[in-house]
Amino acid sequence: MSDIPSIHLPAELIPEDGRFGSGPSKVRTESLLELGVTGSSFMGTSHRQPKVKAVVGAIRNGMKDMFSLPDDYEVVLGVGGATAFWASATFGLIENKSQHLDFGVFSGKFAKVVAGAPHLEEPEVIKADIGTFPLPVPNSEVDLYALTHNETTTGVMMPIVRPEAEGIVAVDATSAAGGMAVDPSQFDVYYFSPQKVFGGDGGLWIAFCSPAALERIEKIHNSDRWIPGFLSLQLAVNNSLKDQTTNTPALATLYLVRSQIDSMLELGGLDWALERCARSSDIVYSWAEDSDYAFPFVANPAERSTNVATINFAEEVDANVLSAVLRDNGILDTGGYRALGQNQLRLAMFPNVAPDDLATLTKAIDYIVERM
Ligand SMILES: *Cc1c(COP(=O)(O)O)cnc(C)c1O
Repeated sequence: MSDIPSIHLPAELIPEDGRFGSGPSKVRTESLLELGVTGSSFMGTSHRQPKVKAVVGAIRNGMKDMFSLPDDYEVVLGVGGATAFWASATFGLIENKSQHLDFGVFSGKFAKVVAGAPHLEEPEVIKADIGTFPLPVPNSEVDLYALTHNETTTGVMMPIVRPEAEGIVAVDATSAAGGMAVDPSQFDVYYFSPQKVFGGDGGLWIAFCSPAALERIEKIHNSDRWIPGFLSLQLAVNNSLKDQTTNTPALATLYLVRSQIDSMLELGGLDWALERCARSSDIVYSWAEDSDYAFPFVANPAERSTNVATINFAEEVDANVLSAVLRDNGILDTGGYRALGQNQLRLAMFPNVAPDDLATLTKAIDYIVERM
């Protein structure tokens, strides 16, 4: 990269909290302090005992509450994040053939895992140009439709609508869940890692499962397909019903997620979060639209993510240099997703990120660009 100019932001242009990364994202300092105060009573104790099980139970109930999940949906937890869930779904959720909407790096990754599985048919992959999204196409051979609510790498969001077809609908909601509206009748599985919207830490996946999904999991579990125990969704369901996980989870992650849910519910739940993300994204996209050198990467305003903004820059402004100057000033992780190869910044607008801090950030960018 070219030299990083030495530009110091005046104090009033430095956001109160400098974390704008899209994952791991800003963790509430209050949650970290709360965890610290547990001292010797939580960290370093058994995940099979009531203290930790109560936290898992609170996460499961809190999610049901926040997303108004029907009583017969289950909140299932497992170790390994969304990437592990893709492997689990490849073993235990797809019967024969899946259809994937590929419109960025994450949605493409799940399709690649499935394509390599010897026990499944070649998946059907529907692509769209980067910066837009494709729609599912009903296909009688497909038994699982893989959707992505928010493509974190491109900043494109898509509405979750069940295709008029037989298969189950599995939605990667990793940077969406908790910051975007969703109707539980439109999915069978809504899964995510908690280090994005839920400002927790990595290493965990959480999946809301409909009765149809639970039935599918059981059916495949009872078939003669070999499934490694660690990736078994049936074992994950069985353990989750007892407020446990198949193997040892990161207790700090569980604690932070529980604390985050409590805080969100106290502030008004999903409605509060949606309003806050709408406010933040309005600030960022309006600024970019009015700017002479910055513009929203996603052309169609309806497809622009309310949770992760991708902002492109005119050729004369090197976004990598801009991001490095921001970092020098304590403003972190604003760089675009490298593999996308755009002259771009990517800014998280998750509920934990204060709209005021985003407003300050846009002013800081203007200040730096004028001096670059
Ligand atoms: C971050 C992300 C993932 C990967 O999550 P891990 O916890 O690293 O496995 C998958 N899908 C989406 C949409 C993401 O944003």
